[in-house]
Amino acid sequence: MTLVPTRIQLNRPLSPLTYLAPEGLPEGVRVQVKLRNSLAVGLAMGLDPAPPVAKLRPIESVLDPFPLLPEKLRELQSFAARYYGCLEAHLLPLSLPSAMLPNWEADEDGQRLSFHRDRGAWEVLADLGEAWHCDPAILPTLLHRSARRGSGFTEVRLTGAPHPPRVTPSQAKVLVTLEDAGGALMEPELLASAGVGASVLGTLEKRGLVQRLKRVDLLGQRREAGLDRTVTLTAEQQVVLDAVATGAFGVHLLQGVTGSGKTEVYLALAERVLATGRRVLWLVPEIGLTARLLDRLEARFPGRVAVGHAGLNAGERHGDVVRLLFNGADLFVGVRNAVLAPLRDIGLVVVDEEHEGSYKSEEHPRIHARDLAIKRAQLEGCPIVLGSATPSLESWQAAQGGRYKLLRLRERPAGISLPSVEIVDLREAFRQVRRKVILAPTLMEAITGTLAKREQVLLLLNRRGYENFWMCRACGRTLGCPHCAISLTYHRGDFRLRCHLCGHETVPPEACPDCGADHLRGVGEGTEQVEEHLNQLFPTARILRLDRDTTRRRGSFEAGLLAAEAGQVDILVGTQMLAKGHTFPGLTLVGVLNADQGLKVADFRASERTFQLLTQVAGRAGRAELPGRVILQTYSPEHPAITFALAQDFEGFAASELPFREGLGYPPFTALSLYRAEGDSPREAKEALDVFRQRLSVPGLKVLGPLEAPVPRIRDRWRMHLLLKGGRGALGEVLARHPLDPTGPISLDRDPIQFG
Ligand code: ADP
Ligand code: ZN
Repeated sequence: MTLVPTRIQLNRPLSPLTYLAPEGLPEGVRVQVKLRNSLAVGLAMGLDPAPPVAKLRPIESVLDPFPLLPEKLRELQSFAARYYGCLEAHLLPLSLPSAMLPNWEADEDGQRLSFHRDRGAWEVLADLGEAWHCDPAILPTLLHRSARRGSGFTEVRLTGAPHPPRVTPSQAKVLVTLEDAGGALMEPELLASAGVGASVLGTLEKRGLVQRLKRVDLLGQRREAGLDRTVTLTAEQQVVLDAVATGAFGVHLLQGVTGSGKTEVYLALAERVLATGRRVLWLVPEIGLTARLLDRLEARFPGRVAVGHAGLNAGERHGDVVRLLFNGADLFVGVRNAVLAPLRDIGLVVVDEEHEGSYKSEEHPRIHARDLAIKRAQLEGCPIVLGSATPSLESWQAAQGGRYKLLRLRERPAGISLPSVEIVDLREAFRQVRRKVILAPTLMEAITGTLAKREQVLLLLNRRGYENFWMCRACGRTLGCPHCAISLTYHRGDFRLRCHLCGHETVPPEACPDCGADHLRGVGEGTEQVEEHLNQLFPTARILRLDRDTTRRRGSFEAGLLAAEAGQVDILVGTQMLAKGHTFPGLTLVGVLNADQGLKVADFRASERTFQLLTQVAGRAGRAELPGRVILQTYSPEHPAITFALAQDFEGFAASELPFREGLGYPPFTALSLYRAEGDSPREAKEALDVFRQRLSVPGLKVLGPLEAPVPRIRDRWRMHLLLKGGRGALGEVLARHPLDPTGPISLDRDPIQFG
């Protein structure tokens, strides 16, 4: 065996190191290497064409029988690393669960890798096999089949605790059956053989005699029978299907009003692609959406679906990646990072709600999953569908220019009509009552009427907490966070003023800390206050608030949605998390309490975001046979974002907004790179950017700044911005010529969407 210099990428923020490895070692296979005096796990990255002159160490062992990262994914990673200005190492944890790629640095004792965590794919299977009491060789098939059958993987095993002097006859039966079976059995099998009910197991478990182990695969638990209603596609939908299902690379922008059946089209497409033996990568913007969608997917493609999102626990994530690697699943659905999932032979990429900001990571590496999905489809040579009722102006402009193919769904099938939308002018309402209006009379009456008909109401207010901030009426001081340059929000639930950026919290003071007057007053209502208000106004209504404060616990958001779907909620009140793609059959009234709230933000996308939010939330009303009504309360009824939302006219909005963008030189007409610097003082942050700016040597750029960031201080760190405008090529050139020191004060956000 010839050993050749081979690049090995460790799961730490370093460029690859060079070791000697067997010639022809496939790229993407994991290996063990010695690093100083401890062992580490890395990925083989191919021959090093220019190895260092120093003496090279050989690798210790090869961990996998085949590459965990498919070649196309490796290409995508190297593209992404170049584009976003990060190391490929930064992207590895987004592709593989940490248990498969232990991070040497994160190890508890900080020195050595603990080797029980270092497992090859086969070893992982061996472990699972041991846990599930079966031959690891059959596990991939078993995982596949069990998901198809939907049977649970709960296994019961003897704990080995000393046998107590007395047990009941049914308990004895269980223990003997387990004993006979070698100590462990799948739960249904055990109950059948022993002829006892499941309650016996509970008792035995409490007594410490047996142990129940949950299986990793969570899809079977979600399955609901009878969900798969096959629909006959409408002529419009059929056109879309045929246009995309060409098999070749092409970006398709599917613009279709909410409820026009975009998901049905994706399902039909997926079916075609899976039938050819290729795989499907399906991205959704949020975890909350996946549970609903999974039911539909599982009903349609039983046992073939794997899922990835941050809400899963390590075991679940691990299990589904194992299924991917061993071809136990051929449709992968997930949020942002799923774009880097180790899926092979992709025949279709779907990006649902492509306009959603959650596709963009706000942490290093700041990838945009939609943009990378397009690159991935290109590398795989397969079609990609970007779907939305309100496409991003970037995608829309690309379709106008012919780079993307535009497909439309203009109608809602099955005779479901679009809701009627109306506006309530809050200025007018204020003039009448001379104080702040939370619910104008029109909306009040509509709520009363809807409740009387036993239908559901959704109220949107994009601000959580009780009051936005506290101000002293005597001296005008606002109570702010001591660590961040923003005001504190009052939460009545636990009587705290809290910073929504750093989490700092404090008990509200009795008097103004500046002037001592007891004139402190809350300004600007939040969801918590609206909920309280509604409880007073509609004491018998079942009211559920859903925002980030009420949905912290894992699964609580889904639970709330399910309750609403099951008709157990009369009024849903919450933030924008309610606006996205959920269907509530009984929902006929949508009220937006302050439609122009998002317009005040100093961001060139404020108008676009507001239009999207209003149109999306309006789409929640009247999806079933009941006609929907939407009421937008606003102080600026003449703003285009509001008037076009009123008319539910995406094209009109785009046509009115794009000239502004072009005139001001903003995306989609130029690309942006935002360089952020942080420092202990504003000066320190500014100086870093000044130096960077002076050295800039790429022509054809427009440079703005350094300027104070809109939020100049977060967690006691001062923040400055330098904004570069130009072509993608020029901005890429900046990155190539002026690479950033990862440990330095400046970080880069390419194609930024958050300017805070
Ligand atoms: P979107 O993803 O565009 O919001 P969905 O695909 O969820 O829309 O469709 C909305 C509703 O209309 C769903 O209940 C879906 O089953 C139904 N639907 C979609 N297409 C058809 C069709 N061709 N015939 C009957 N019902 C349909
Ligand atoms: Zn703070």
